[in-house]
Amino acid sequence: MRNLIQTFQTISKDFLVMVVDYLLPPRCGLCSQKVMTAGNICGACFQQLSMISKPCCYSCSLPFDVPTPERSSCGQCLQTQPEYDRAFSAVVYGGAAKRLVLQLKHGQQYAASSVMIKQMVSVVLSSGLCLQCHETTFVVPVPLHWSRLAKRKFNQSALLAQGIAKALKYHYRPALLQRKKATQSQGGLGKEDRNKNVRGAFTVNKNWSFDSVANARVFLIDDVYTTGATVQECARELKKYGVKKVYVVTYARVVKGWMFSELSF
Ligand SMILES: [Zn+2]
Ligand SMILES: [Zn+2]
Repeated sequence: MRNLIQTFQTISKDFLVMVVDYLLPPRCGLCSQKVMTAGNICGACFQQLSMISKPCCYSCSLPFDVPTPERSSCGQCLQTQPEYDRAFSAVVYGGAAKRLVLQLKHGQQYAASSVMIKQMVSVVLSSGLCLQCHETTFVVPVPLHWSRLAKRKFNQSALLAQGIAKALKYHYRPALLQRKKATQSQGGLGKEDRNKNVRGAFTVNKNWSFDSVANARVFLIDDVYTTGATVQECARELKKYGVKKVYVVTYARVVKGWMFSELSF
């Protein structure tokens, strides 16, 4: 009898999913074409994303135009070693990637966050950093200042960090880092001004048990890597408190001069 009830429940659930899919078919998060599963983008939109792959800088993932030996770094990273250990990005910022980032920022969270999280998780998995790791790993978003959080109601980096932590089964720690300074927006600022703007802006939450931070490793999550000023400042602060490794994972990376294919939106 119990088996019969379970079978009936499964059938009715599948039937309900079919009905919902028929009445409200899942749509591409960017162009609204029908797609197979909810929280996805269609093949045509996917092809407009410029995925970052090798050859790229071992430290900051800046794509290289020509093949390079394993573990090569870009001129910038050779000149000044980043505060973080390595930074990864899934795609080059612009075109379809920019639209996803803006959707997430403007609150159309479901499709955008689901697509971005999947691609960021895949970048982390292919980095090999999840293999044979015995250190405690925290997934930490770049925080917003409380005043901006109050205005915007959510932190897009926290949404991404939460999804990534869940997928990789790591500890999600949204309050480990705090933004103590309400900085002006980094948009429109040059590299030097960006560095100055975020200097001293972050702190490790004083209520946190420092023992648990020391020797841990942190995946620091943000939506876009522009010059790296923000994540460098966060990494500097985390390392001050004994964090052993800081790996930055952003969805998109700004690459100067990158040419995007014509968009059909
Ligand atoms: Zn589409
Ligand atoms: Zn680099």
